[in-house]
Amino acid sequence: MSKTLEHPMLLEEVRTWISSGPKKLFIGGRWVPSISERRFDVIDPATGDPMTSVYEADAEDVDAAVQAAMRALQGSWRSVKPMERGRLLWKLADLMEEHAEELSQLESLDTGKPVFETSMVDIPYAIDHFRYFSGWTTKWTGETLPVSAPGQYLAYTRREPIGVVGAITPWNMPLLIVSWKLAPALAAGNTVVLKPSEITPLTALRLGELIQEAGFPPGVVNILPGFGPKAGNALLTHRGIQKISFTGSTRVGREIVHASAENFKRITLELGGKSPNIVFPDADLDKVASGVMMSIFFNQGEICSAGSRLYVHEQVYDRVLEKVVDRARKVRQGVGIDPTTQMGALVSENHMNRVLGYIQKGVEEGAKLLLGGDRSRSNGYFVPPTIFEARDHMSIAREEVFGPVLAVLPFKDEKDVVRRANDSDYGLVAGVWTNDVRRGLRVAHELHAGTVWINGYNLLDPTSPWGGFKQSGLGREMGRYALEHYTETKSVWVNLDES
Ligand code: NAD
Repeated sequence: MSKTLEHPMLLEEVRTWISSGPKKLFIGGRWVPSISERRFDVIDPATGDPMTSVYEADAEDVDAAVQAAMRALQGSWRSVKPMERGRLLWKLADLMEEHAEELSQLESLDTGKPVFETSMVDIPYAIDHFRYFSGWTTKWTGETLPVSAPGQYLAYTRREPIGVVGAITPWNMPLLIVSWKLAPALAAGNTVVLKPSEITPLTALRLGELIQEAGFPPGVVNILPGFGPKAGNALLTHRGIQKISFTGSTRVGREIVHASAENFKRITLELGGKSPNIVFPDADLDKVASGVMMSIFFNQGEICSAGSRLYVHEQVYDRVLEKVVDRARKVRQGVGIDPTTQMGALVSENHMNRVLGYIQKGVEEGAKLLLGGDRSRSNGYFVPPTIFEARDHMSIAREEVFGPVLAVLPFKDEKDVVRRANDSDYGLVAGVWTNDVRRGLRVAHELHAGTVWINGYNLLDPTSPWGGFKQSGLGREMGRYALEHYTETKSVWVNLDES
């Protein structure tokens, strides 16, 4: 049992839920052990100790879940009216709100991130997502079409659900990213088999209980914790699944594209990033410093949108660096469940070693280490804020580290910095800091990124589409754009000619 579970701030219901025995799979509205009855441990990243265990789904469990999802799609879910679908999504959001503190703590325990962030961002944003999409159930319409020979034909479109959606999610923002997939998929009338990350399955499982309580028909949502190469792969290859919605690494994204060639499954991919954050000399440097902290140390830097390449104009380079290093040095790192913690542990030992490996590479390749650089505690997976002065060709300036590691790079000229910022295989987000509105917009339009923030960073809202250019992904989540990716458009023609 992990020591973190004895933390005085931990809610009794969280302690009880975690300690109440192995967590089961949610299939067809029932909680069942996996067919193999194999289990795996869920580790507390703040201590490295196991907290609980979870039954591991395999291809046979995935098949049972897909069958349940297909039955729901053709039966009970199909007969639920759009208004009622919206009410169910809203009810789920209400229940999440009722249990928000509990979900925040659970997410913090499972990921290591501070409860201060889960309670301000992960959980409320996930709730907002369900509320936002609940409204779309009655507003996502087809149209009548002005085909030639007016009067002879009536032609119109219908937006129909795609079918059973396989959702595969990562460990960095577990519940939030689950909401990005479930909310639009369900609003559009699909059913879902969800495989959360094996590293952080807990909030998805707790959500399953709330989905049941909200009254969704059995089989509409099925939740199967398991490993990528087994349960994940079984989703990719199952012919009953019509769409894969994936968030995770670009490496696995590539495998999904290959697998989808088999039966042309629809796919949405939200992948990695190596995002530029560009500071012009006329920007408000205190706001820049806060923005930089948010861009790279929020969520321990374990975020696809991390502003891990900070380009600073040479006129303000020293001043910006001083402000950022000064703030980063004061970050309070600790156990996520402690409300005063500002930065928590990395999610796993493997991941910590990967991040430390990048730091080592940075030093070996000649980057100048200004802050951090080593494991900050002997137990738990803690890496402190780490800042390098780097050059564009270095690994820490080109590859996704997915940790609290900032590469700072000077620039002189606007055109040149845009070229350097765009010289990446990724294109998820970018930041621009300037008080010159013309320059801000000019640069925003030139950057190859799915989202650009001017004088801000990591701004998110369910109404605003999210997704990547280039190898950062395919398709969009959030906003009405997400619904495009969860529906098929059908054209219907009616011959009105009576002759
Ligand atoms: P990952 O690709 O290792 O795993 C993501 C999910 O895919 C997990 O559920 C995993 O079990 C599953 N998986 C792994 N191998 C699989 C396979 N062969 N077949 C099917 N499923 C498989 O990614 P991760 O380490 O969990 O998350 C970190 C990555 O996610 C980073 O690259 C990050 O940039 C990306 N990410 C992107 C966004 C975005 O919105 N663009 C958001 C969060 C994270």
